[in-house]
Amino acid sequence: MDFLVLGAGVIGVTTAWYLRAQGHDVRVVERQPGPALETSFANAGQVAAHISEPWANPQTPRMLPKWLLADDAPLVWHPRASLTQWRWLAQFLRECSAQRYGRNLVHLANIGLYSRTALKELRRELGLSYDQREGGILLFHRDPAQFERAAAAAKRLAARGFEREVKTRDECLAIEPALAPIRDHIVGGIYSAHDETGDAQQFSNALARICAERGVAFDYGTKIVRIAAEGDRVTGVEVERAGGGRDVLRAGACVVALGCATPAMLKPLGIGGIAIQPVKGYSVTVPIADEKRAFGIGLHDVSKKMAFARLGMRLRGTSTAEIGAFDTTVNERRCKALVDHIDWMTPGAGRAQEATYWAGLRPMTPSNIPYVGRTRIGNLYINAGHGTVGWTQSCGSAKALAEIVGGRRPALDFPFAGME
Ligand SMILES: Cc1cc2nc3c(=O)[nH]c(=O)nc-3n(C[C@H](O)[C@H](O)[C@H](O)COP(=O)(O)OP(=O)(O)OC[C@H]3O[C@@H](n4cnc5c(N)ncnc54)[C@H](O)[C@@H]3O)c2cc1C
Repeated sequence: MDFLVLGAGVIGVTTAWYLRAQGHDVRVVERQPGPALETSFANAGQVAAHISEPWANPQTPRMLPKWLLADDAPLVWHPRASLTQWRWLAQFLRECSAQRYGRNLVHLANIGLYSRTALKELRRELGLSYDQREGGILLFHRDPAQFERAAAAAKRLAARGFEREVKTRDECLAIEPALAPIRDHIVGGIYSAHDETGDAQQFSNALARICAERGVAFDYGTKIVRIAAEGDRVTGVEVERAGGGRDVLRAGACVVALGCATPAMLKPLGIGGIAIQPVKGYSVTVPIADEKRAFGIGLHDVSKKMAFARLGMRLRGTSTAEIGAFDTTVNERRCKALVDHIDWMTPGAGRAQEATYWAGLRPMTPSNIPYVGRTRIGNLYINAGHGTVGWTQSCGSAKALAEIVGGRRPALDFPFAGME
């Protein structure tokens, strides 16, 4: 079958790889001049299989009023006169019930583990290199009451097979000695030893290069205007080339991997109800000044909802969720706070004055569960809405989608679109 993959973020590139590996002819269409130049460009780099949490959880509704008023809150809401946004928010609040949270957590862990395994296999098979590190991810706590609750939850989940280990302050320091300067602030941590970190953009670039060598065509600088359909079949896409001029690309089937742009592209085909909202976040990248002081593993400062990773000779920090922000302008104050936080945790590790700032839009569903599978149009597939964990879930979502295309149900408990 000949496929068009729409979008060359980390999701589109991995989708192209697994479809090609199944013997399909694949063409990727992307408006940017290369792969992973939008949301997949500078994320926190964490491949967090079992330690990721759905953002909609039973505590969130209680925290919301406080967050919505605070200037430095981790969650910000930009209310708009948009029915879609209000509907999304209502769905998000519904997902906060204990029962739905529990179900979403399990599904998130299932796809996370499947995906991390696929990523490791792919790295071995292709010899990929993308500043990856295998030291695990540590969520360190500074509030004793919050840590107590997190530790109790981690113990319950560990008994069910989740990779979450409760660590004392000293154990946290043994796992990440670079945190010594803030030793007295840490009360304990939750550790996931088999998780890892790596640069999603470098990974996407490397994989796109190998895809191209193996026959995948990439049309960069090509904006998709609409998906064309005849009767109940998709026939291709109408595109606008960078130099001007329109074109029609025909294909036997399409996969929509357009991140935040997915709902708008599907709506004209009568596929509504795709609940993906952009949720904006910021990242900073700080060159390392002193390797001995730099952290080496993935970190979360739970009280600040900030995430960190070391990527080669760079330190990456990310924070903030702004619901309903559609632009990628950088908030200097929030970015500066991240740089200051890196300097506070590991003084002298980075060259703060050379930090670069970035903003990206997470394609977020209310439940944190992405849309992966078939739409009601038989030859139109979707792989989008990976929100906070698209890098973590990329290889698994793409591998599972290729299985579904081949008529097989992927071997994991997950609500794949069109499979129920
Ligand atoms: C601050 C921050 C931190 C994060 N940290 C992590 C983390 O630590 N771990 C993790 O797993 N995930 C993380 N994420 C989430 C992760 O980055 C995203 O889930 C993932 O990048 C989404 O990939 P995607 O391919 O779906 O979207 P994108 O990378 O946005 O790709 C979609 C592509 O579609 C293209 N496109 C859109 N419309 C059109 C059109 N009309 N024509 C042609 N092309 C089009 C875009 O140019 C884009 O390249 C983070 C995100 C942010 C913002």
